This record gives sequence, C-alpha cells and structure tokens, in this order.
Amino acid sequence: MKRLFILLMSLYFFNASAQDISFARKIVDTLTSPYFWGRGYTNDGMKKAADFIADQFKQYGLQPLDKKSFFQKFSYPVNTFPGKMEVAINGRQLVAGKDFIVAPEAHGLKAEGILQEKDSADFIDMKNRLIVNLSDKLTWSASAEAAEYTLIEIDKKAVDKPPAEFKVDIDSKFINNFKAANVCSYVKGTEKPDSFIFITAHYDHLGGMGKDIYFPGANDNASGISLLLNLARYYATHPQKYSIGFICFAGEEAGLFGSKYFTENPLVPLKNIRFLINTDLAGTGDEGITVVNATEFPKEFAFMNEVNDEDKLLVKINPRGKAANSDHYFFTEKGVPAFFFYTMGGIKAYHDVFDRPETLPLNEHEDLFKLIVKFNQKLMGE
Ligand SMILES: [Zn+2]
Repeated sequence: MKRLFILLMSLYFFNASAQDISFARKIVDTLTSPYFWGRGYTNDGMKKAADFIADQFKQYGLQPLDKKSFFQKFSYPVNTFPGKMEVAINGRQLVAGKDFIVAPEAHGLKAEGILQEKDSADFIDMKNRLIVNLSDKLTWSASAEAAEYTLIEIDKKAVDKPPAEFKVDIDSKFINNFKAANVCSYVKGTEKPDSFIFITAHYDHLGGMGKDIYFPGANDNASGISLLLNLARYYATHPQKYSIGFICFAGEEAGLFGSKYFTENPLVPLKNIRFLINTDLAGTGDEGITVVNATEFPKEFAFMNEVNDEDKLLVKINPRGKAANSDHYFFTEKGVPAFFFYTMGGIKAYHDVFDRPETLPLNEHEDLFKLIVKFNQKLMGE
C-alpha cells in the first residue's frame, strides 16, 4: 500500500512537472513565432506580445496592478529597419542576420562602389559614410539614437577575400515616440496586501531587421516571461500573505526604458516593495545561475542559498555585485531591494538569429520556479 502510494505520488509529481515544462515550452514557442516578429519595432510585434501577456493574466484571474488596465503606456525613441535589407559584397548577395547585421543606430543607404581598406577588419567608403566591419560573432541590439553613418558588420566566414566591391540597399526609419507598454498585474495579499513582492521580466526583444528576418529571442527573454507567467498562474490560485506583483517590461533592449518609466511613475509606492526578483535569460542553467545584487543584499542571498541547498535545485548560485544590465537596476537605485538572476551554461546564442526555441533547453525551469516560490515564502516568513 505504501509502495503504491509512493508510486502514485511520484506519478503525480511527474505529471505536475511535465505540465509545467510543457506550459513553459508553449509560451516560449508562441512568443518566438513569426506573428510576434521578435517582439520589437516592426509588424506591431511588441504590441502583439503585450496583448498576449495581458490576455494570459486575465485568463489566470489576476488583477491589473492599478486596478484599471494591465497596460502602463509610455514612449521612447528608436531606430528601426522596416524595409529593404540588401547587402552584396564582391558580387555576392549576403544573407541578413546570418552573414551580416546592420548596426542598430545605422542610417539607411542605397549605394554601390568600392571600399577602401582601413585595417584588416575595417573597410570604408567615405563618400557614402559606409563602414564595413569583419567580425567573429554578430551581436545585434536596439538603438534609441540614429547615426549619420551606415555600419555593416559581416561575419568573417561569409567572405573569402577582403570586402571591396559593394552594393547595398537598406531602409531605416527613426521613430521619435515609439509607443510601448509595461504589462502589470498582481494577486492581492491575504494579510498584508500593501506589502509587495514583485516578479519582473522584459518581454521585448530586438524585432526584425528588414522585411524577411526577425530575432526570435527565445532565451532573451521569452524564457523569463514563461517563468513569470508560470508563477503568475500559480499565485493566482495560491494567494500569499503579501501581494505578489508582476511586471513585464517593454523597451529593455533599447535602454531599460520600461523599468525606468515604472520607477518614475510607480503604480504602487516603491517603499511598499519588500523585494523584487527580475529574470532575464532563464532558458539554460547547466552551470547554475548568477545573482546580480547578491553582495548588496546578503541576508536575502543567504535565504536563496538555504532554499537551494534544502531542495537541491541548482548546481551553483554565483554572487555578483551591482550591475546596470537589466530591469532591476532603476529599482535598486531608488532603494528597492532587488535581485536579477540569469542562467549559466548551455547555448551560446545571444542577440542573434540563433537564439531560437528549438535549441533552448529550459532545463532548469522547474527548479527556478521552486526556488522563487520558496524564496518568497522565506521573505514573507521573516
Ligand atoms: Zn534580456
């Protein structure tokens, strides 16, 4: 009988786990699909992602953080590439994303001519303000500024001799007031509803580069959103002593615009936030996680390690100091205790077209879920 019970229990846990991971997988697959176009600046990608997340919050039964709307709207400047994206070097047409990227701040250009070699990596055409740079790894970004030049980075492996002859046709469009929104919700606390624990993650990514390619951003940060949504779903049916808030930020990649806006226009008083946990790049974890602000908040870092040791979750939790590398930053600057964690090991794709759902392991998703739930319990149990 006891053995049957154990068997049933293990089946139950197996099913619960299988469900969690398939939920996460579904969210990542959805957010990285062409419909969302890299959750960026063309094809309405970012807005579609915001609508999808708000709809998830609604389905799970969460309330808007300001009790009116899930969206906290704001705008910021950004350089975009909605149209032509053609680059030919030495008579050969290159493939956007794979063979080359255009610098995020680059000016559009339609021109042809001959490049002058500046050094072994840089080739220029002064007349057209064109710079061609040979690189080992193409890493794209989003830019809030527009340059007067056109910089094209080419993967070294895509050319067999130094770039000389060129023909380019690139459209860029600078948008002064790109409209975006943070998506914010909460589950009301049962005993201390005015005290908050926040779980945050950015949902925007780099969007598309030209008409044909987009950057899926599976690890960055569909993975973090899948973890946040899984936790939102859990807390909706398991209200806690404190209110648990959720913010999915926009505009992170172009310069932490969403989290900056929230800290300047907070929907709950910042002093009521007991702790904030930001997750960005949550899709691997073979080598554990790194926690930014660990040295700033040693007591909470000890809590996290206790939970991890008790339940044998992650192989390692690396402490790190302050860093302005994700959405926790402006909160910390305003006195809100916060951690930002990212997973270590596994795939190397980052800000490139190879950050795809097919190769994202999500192997620590469930451990991260448990770590956060138990860590929050410790915070509320003080
Ligand atoms: Zn990110």
